[in-house]
Amino acid sequence: MRTEDLFHKALSLAPPWEIARFQFEARQHRLDISLTAPEGSAFACPQCGAACAVHDSAEKTWRHLDFFQYQAFITARVPRVLCPSHGIQPVEVPWARSTSGTRAFVRV
Ligand SMILES: [Zn+2]
Repeated sequence: MRTEDLFHKALSLAPPWEIARFQFEARQHRLDISLTAPEGSAFACPQCGAACAVHDSAEKTWRHLDFFQYQAFITARVPRVLCPSHGIQPVEVPWARSTSGTRAFVRV
């Protein structure tokens, strides 16, 4: 399994999200993963699930639980969609969802 595939599964990424790059700084004990979605991608409205066009986006960073002795960060431009029924809505990102009752990521 490729490293990219491993992180893709570990972060529960689904299209259109993809890994743009990894940056591993051994001296700083830090792993950064940048995520992206292709231009023109549609995202689900969090209220009704309709596929909607992106209204705008903002870069956000999440701090993950440590990856062994390394601090792990995720950065992505997270879109807001314009839903015909619900207006402007923030997109839910899969890596920030809780599946076990404990969030693995904290937005910084
Ligand atoms: Zn909606």
